[in-house]
Amino acid sequence: MAQCDGKTKKGDRCKRDARAESPFCAIHQDQEIRARSVGSDQPWDNDSLVKAAIGFGLVAAIFLFRFRR
Ligand SMILES: [Zn+2]
Repeated sequence: MAQCDGKTKKGDRCKRDARAESPFCAIHQDQEIRARSVGSDQPWDNDSLVKAAIGFGLVAAIFLFRFRR
């Protein structure tokens, strides 16, 4: 299992094991949330925007075809 990416109050690297679904341990999972919000200025990254646009386009296309018939 990977080591936690969190930092202790002393500023040292946390020596606990990270959780399976996260680079942080249970104690430092709040640092993960902070790292994500600081890491990107935009709440949407490009990948999510493209996926949302494709999804919306598909739904709109299905609606258009159904109403025309
Ligand atoms: Zn930790």
